[in-house]
Amino acid sequence: MPAPNGRIFGCNVIDPVLEVRGGDDYSLAITERSLEFLREIGHDAIEYSHACHWSVEECEAVREMTARIGLIPWSLHAWAGGDVTTDEGRRSTAAVLRVATRNAQALGVPIIVHHPDGQRLDRDEDHERLRIETELLAGLAAPGVRFALENMQTLASMEYVVALVDLLGSDRAGVCVDTGHAALGDLGPGRALRMAGSRLITTHLQDNRGQHDDHMPPGDGAIDWDDVVAALTEIDYPGCVLLELTDQPGDAMRRVTIREELARGAKAARGLAARLPARTV
Ligand SMILES: [Zn+2]
Repeated sequence: MPAPNGRIFGCNVIDPVLEVRGGDDYSLAITERSLEFLREIGHDAIEYSHACHWSVEECEAVREMTARIGLIPWSLHAWAGGDVTTDEGRRSTAAVLRVATRNAQALGVPIIVHHPDGQRLDRDEDHERLRIETELLAGLAAPGVRFALENMQTLASMEYVVALVDLLGSDRAGVCVDTGHAALGDLGPGRALRMAGSRLITTHLQDNRGQHDDHMPPGDGAIDWDDVVAALTEIDYPGCVLLELTDQPGDAMRRVTIREELARGAKAARGLAARLPARTV
């Protein structure tokens, strides 16, 4: 249910009993109980973190299931591609993104989150990589879906993401800011969001203590969430307040069960959404 100001919030799909070791474990039955739990704890929207092993028919079944449960299919995560300066790397990136695009279209998802290959822009070879990656992604772009390119830890990685999105254009691409990644290097979550500006089309909001990529609910780590809210307000982000939690929690870091952690996440996401200016997406 949206926050009182109309803002929607969501989370990536996670099995609430954690009977999963890898992404390919997400069968239709496990996906269904995951979606039902996310809806039960109040989310409006979801990201399919593990959807690239499904056939088109399975995607269509998940699309119906998602609609029946009452969730918005917001985004899909495409996992790693290759080194785009090599033939093999380009082939592997193209293969990953073609399946992600086919499945996003079958699921009715408008955003494909992707980690670009380039991570810096200060050498001639980085500009060559940027040129190649732009051409590759432009050739893979399809109607009805946009690539949301995600930052890593460094300011340099964000500079590359912004340059790539600008070259691809807003009809083909936007930015996904991952606050947890940004908090682990010299980038910083607030700066990442302000650099993204109007290019921001989705988020991976997650917390950590500055040491590991923990994917904890906002508020459970050391990130300055007041600054995240300020940045999202300044850039007038119109979209879903989307979390990226984990189905592989490190036991030592966690004091609560996954169900409690997911519920804490939903409460935090609702709280962050409620602090943004009113907006109907
Ligand atoms: Zn992420």
